[in-house]
Amino acid sequence: MAKTYEISVLPGDGAGREVIAQAVRVLETLHSKQRGVNLKLHQFECGGEYYLEHEREWSEKAEDFTTTKADAILLGAVGAKHEGQLVRLPDGNMAGYNIVIGLRQRLDLYANVRPVRLYEGVPTPLADKGPRDIDMVIVRENTEGLYIPARQRVERSEGQDFAIDMRVISTRGSERVSRFAFELATGRTGAPSDGTKRVTCVDKSNLLEGCRLFRETFNSVGNNYPRIEKDYAFVDAWTLLAIMSPEHYDVVVAPNAFGDIISDMGGALQGGLGMAPSGNIGDSKALFEPVHGSAPDIAGKGRANPIAAILSVVMMLDWLGDRHRNHALKKAATTIETAVEGTLQEGSVRTQDLCRGEWASVTPSSTEDVTSDIIEKME
Ligand code: NAD
Repeated sequence: MAKTYEISVLPGDGAGREVIAQAVRVLETLHSKQRGVNLKLHQFECGGEYYLEHEREWSEKAEDFTTTKADAILLGAVGAKHEGQLVRLPDGNMAGYNIVIGLRQRLDLYANVRPVRLYEGVPTPLADKGPRDIDMVIVRENTEGLYIPARQRVERSEGQDFAIDMRVISTRGSERVSRFAFELATGRTGAPSDGTKRVTCVDKSNLLEGCRLFRETFNSVGNNYPRIEKDYAFVDAWTLLAIMSPEHYDVVVAPNAFGDIISDMGGALQGGLGMAPSGNIGDSKALFEPVHGSAPDIAGKGRANPIAAILSVVMMLDWLGDRHRNHALKKAATTIETAVEGTLQEGSVRTQDLCRGEWASVTPSSTEDVTSDIIEKME
């Protein structure tokens, strides 16, 4: 009998809950329609709202299942407000931190993969660029760099306080994320501009020692991939180059923090955060989530774009399919992505964030209606 894949589903807070509800509808459609796709969804409450009620970010059962039993994890977003203030843990971190950031460390999810693809029918802020120009993947190192939990506030006399955030970059961390990027490039069709398979190392190695180590390691890993071009940019210059010539980029690899920042810019190029999916991938575990947060400004209004969450499901099925050599899962991923492409191309059913430019006169659809259109196309 075909294996059943156990999926931990963590909707989280605010808009995260709304978009994950839609992602679940898509998965349930697959389950009922597509042979060989056996997924068991285990849904758990978590995040800031849960913390307010239970003084824990999630239940013990949720934590145990997600960290030890799940074949893959699907997360919405965390971050809740109470009386106008962000709900925080006693250590000052946002309630939900141990889920969204903690799981990266705990499960060693070292590659944060953020595809930046402009789909046909989606407005980009770049006036003279279109879907043929924007199709890259940003791979951000996800377990070290500036986000390791080594920080301190030193209190001195009035006005003299200072704070330290340590940034650790190791050969091992740089090696495995670089290898991930080169492997990813191997399976892609190359940069939109010239079809060259290319991995660009984005760092600040003109100034920072950690970045020098990152780049040296990138080079030695890249030497094992002679068919893939090694390319370089300093992070400040890259933000300019990627806006001027996004078509040059195929796979981009960067240390943590820099990768975090440049991939939000990537989100803008592909039409906004409502279009940006992501995967946090390790050697044996993975967590998939839309790049966006809990979007309190639109939460509860049926306005959140579900596509980033639905494309995160596409990434999850693709990853599970590769890992378990399961063709049905890979096919299911293609079925969903093709349906998303269809909805976007037709253009008349879209959430408010995509009613811009050529589509400014379209009446916005709700989160649910966009999903229904995608599901119809899947069927
Ligand atoms: P955000 O990503 O929630 O929102 C930024 C902007 O993008 C907002 O204008 C929002 O309306 C828009 N947006 C986000 N998702 C959208 C969607 N699906 N469709 C259409 N528009 C969308 O970032 P923020 O406002 O800075 O953060 C809100 C909360 O989320 C904070 O508590 C923050 O800490 C948290 N956060 C969590 C995660 C995560 O869980 N992975 C990531 C980022 C922020």
